[in-house]
Amino acid sequence: MTSHKPKILLIYTGGTIGMVKDFETGALKAFDFNELLSRIPELHLLDCQIETISFDVPIDSSNMNISNWQKMAKIIEENYSKFDGFVVLHGSDTMSYSASALSFMLEDLAKPVIFTGSQLPIGDLRTDAKENLITAIQVASLQENKKPVIQEVCLYFEYKLYRGNRTTKISAEHFNAFTSPNFPELAESGVHLKVNYDVILKQKATKKLKVHTDFDDNVAILKIFPGINQKVLTAFFTIPNLKGIVLETYGSGNAPTEDWFVQTLEQAIHNNIHIINVTQCSGGSVSMGNYETSTQLKNIGVISGKDITTEAAITKLMYLLGQNVSHNVFKTIFETGIRGEMF
Ligand code: ASP
Repeated sequence: MTSHKPKILLIYTGGTIGMVKDFETGALKAFDFNELLSRIPELHLLDCQIETISFDVPIDSSNMNISNWQKMAKIIEENYSKFDGFVVLHGSDTMSYSASALSFMLEDLAKPVIFTGSQLPIGDLRTDAKENLITAIQVASLQENKKPVIQEVCLYFEYKLYRGNRTTKISAEHFNAFTSPNFPELAESGVHLKVNYDVILKQKATKKLKVHTDFDDNVAILKIFPGINQKVLTAFFTIPNLKGIVLETYGSGNAPTEDWFVQTLEQAIHNNIHIINVTQCSGGSVSMGNYETSTQLKNIGVISGKDITTEAAITKLMYLLGQNVSHNVFKTIFETGIRGEMF
């Protein structure tokens, strides 16, 4: 008789979860993935079959980049038919960027891809790694009528499952390091694992996974601040080849109304540079036109990032530019939620 245990592929990219202290320098560095598994014998007790694959050179996620996202997407694509779910072990520093990037790369995903990591290394007595890893695997194994319950890219950390492209890292200290300011949790782990069925994405079984790996890095993020001057703004918009910018504004999308500010942005849009308006606030949405200080942005054709996170905005920008979306429809497509990343 064949086993119906879900098959999970554990993809180790690096991060604190698999780090050890260098005896000489005292700094944390990545170590061999096989050691990670031997440190959690509990994994063998889970009701699923686990296989593992590791980046040849595990990285601190501060070194994350487009080519590493492509590596992850390719691993998932190549193993998609063989596994029921994927768990990606990743440093927490840039995990929200990677979860967002992968959500855009994996169109019509019908299986779980769960990012997780930890604040303390797996070998630490007080580590948060074991709970995060074990529950992430359980979430990836959840099935109903032999179909995965979760069919999207998620991030699991400290008892909570979030939509990956809705998250942001908020603490370098607390185990509760992530939040999803504008979207509810998809599941919570207590004595029971409670799934919020009303908010999870449900894919049409008939659609095949499409993997898009082309990203364009001719982008930047500009956070405005009281006192920003013309030289700084002009310098940004004269970056050679710049194609898009995520502009972090105040409140519901407000910015200075001074002529030099608005005219620099207007000229950039005229030069085919896309400008995405996202808020600096940790929650809420951009709504251009609410105040005089955002009306002019709306009038010159600035794109509304609505309630998107900066992490999802910059990766969506790189993704859409990589897909060569035509200039005429770029604004409309950006302002439409394509993977549940905005309302
Ligand atoms: N610097 C580490 C990383 O992001 C922190 C962590 O894993 O939590 O790779």
